[in-house]
Amino acid sequence: MSDQGPMSEEGGDGGIDQEKIELVMSLRRQGIRDKKVLSALERIPRELFIAGTFRKQAYEDHALPIECGQTISQPFIVAYMTEQLHVGERMKVLEVGTGSGYQAAVLSRLCRRVYTVERYRTLLRDAVKRFEALHLHNITAKVADGYSGWHEQQPFDRIIVTAAAPSVPMTLVAQLKVGGIMVLPVAAPGGRGEQHLVRIERTEEGVTREELMPVRFVPLVEGVARES
Ligand code: SAH
Repeated sequence: MSDQGPMSEEGGDGGIDQEKIELVMSLRRQGIRDKKVLSALERIPRELFIAGTFRKQAYEDHALPIECGQTISQPFIVAYMTEQLHVGERMKVLEVGTGSGYQAAVLSRLCRRVYTVERYRTLLRDAVKRFEALHLHNITAKVADGYSGWHEQQPFDRIIVTAAAPSVPMTLVAQLKVGGIMVLPVAAPGGRGEQHLVRIERTEEGVTREELMPVRFVPLVEGVARES
C-alpha cells in the first residue's frame, strides 16, 4: 500500500505532517492505546474529507461542518469509537452515517470490508470520490435509511452508528452476529440533547449494554433525504 503522501493536496508539506503527529500524540495522551487505530488515523488524510476554509483545522481535535448541515466527527471520538469496536482484519463492518467518509476510511484500514450508508446523496457522492482517490477499495457505500441497516449484507461482525438515535435500533441489533459489537450514540431520555455513547454486544441470550461516555452527535433521521 502506498503512503498517504502522494494523495495529500499539500504533499510534502512538513506543516501538515507535524500537525498530524501532534494530533496522534494528543489522542495517545487522551487514552487511545490501540496502535492499529492510531496508525489508521495517521494514514488517512483528514484534510481531504473537509472542504473550504475549515480544511486548515483538519488536525485540530474537534468536529467540523460538512455539507448538508452535517459534521465530520472529532478525531478523538473517531479513535475512541473505533477502539471500542475491537475491529479484526477479517471482519465485515457496517457504518450508518457515512457523512464525509472519514470514519469509514479509518475502518477500512482495519477490517476486510466496510459497508456504509448515508441518507444524503450529495454526501455519499463526495465520500465515494474520496474513497476512490485514496484507493480504498474495500468500502461499499449506498444511499439508504440506516435504520434498516443493510439487509443483503448481514450479519455484521461490527456496527458503528455515527448519528444519535432516540433508542438502540433493534433492526441493527438483529443484523449483528452473535458475539458482535455495536457502538452508537443514544439520546438520553428527557430530550435535553444529552447523548451517551453506548456499546452493545450481541450474546447467545440477548444483548449486553454498556454506557461509555457523554457525546454530541447530529441526530439519526428516518428516511432518505430529499435534495434539490
Ligand atoms: N461518520 C461521519 C460522520 C457524519 S455525521 C464522518 O466520518 O464524517 C452523521 C451522518 O449520519 C450525517 O451525514 C447524516 O446525514 C447521517 N444520517 C443521519 N441519519 C441517517 C440515517 N437514518 N441513515 C443514514 N444516514 C444517516
